[in-house]
Amino acid sequence: MSKVYKNLIAEIHQELGIPASYAKDRKLLLQYECLDLLPVGIDIFNREVSMCAKVLPAWKKMKSAALGDGIELQLVSAYRSVEYQKSLFLTKMNAGVSIADILKVNAAPGYSEHHTGKALDLTSPGSECLEESFETTTAFAWLRHYAADHAFTMSYPRNNKHSLLYEPWHWRHEIK
Ligand SMILES: [Zn+2]
Repeated sequence: MSKVYKNLIAEIHQELGIPASYAKDRKLLLQYECLDLLPVGIDIFNREVSMCAKVLPAWKKMKSAALGDGIELQLVSAYRSVEYQKSLFLTKMNAGVSIADILKVNAAPGYSEHHTGKALDLTSPGSECLEESFETTTAFAWLRHYAADHAFTMSYPRNNKHSLLYEPWHWRHEIK
C-alpha cells in the first residue's frame, strides 16, 4: 500500500516537474489520503466538505467551545485529495506560474496535510479568507489559547522549517 502510494506520488512529481529532493529539502513527510471520510456539510463557499471521521467530534467540540466564548469558527477547507492538489498545480502552471513559485504557497501532491482529512483551514466572520491578517482576529487569539485543548496545532507558523508560507488559518488535529 505505502509503496504503491509512494510510487504514485513520485510519478505525479515527475509529471509536474517537482524536484526529486523536494520532501527532503523541505523536511516534509508523506501524507496519506484519509480512508474514513465523513461529510461535514458545506463550507463558507457552499462546497461540500469532508474530514476524517476521527477528527469530526473534536472539531464539533472545539467549534462549540469557541461559540461559548462568543467566537464563531468557520470551516474553509478540510480534506483534499492528491488528485485535487495535482489539479491545483496544473491550473497554476497553465496560468504561467513557475513550479518554484507554486511550491512556496502549496504543498506538493502527497505532502499536503489536507490529504489526511485532519487539517482544517479556518476563518471567522469579517475576516479575509486564508490571509495572514487572520492572525489579528479574536478567533485566532482564541485558537492560540484553546486549540491545543482540542488537540489542534498550527502546522505552519511564521518561519516554519518547511519553508512554507505562514498559515495562521491552518490547524491540524493530532490524535492522542
Ligand atoms: Zn490548509
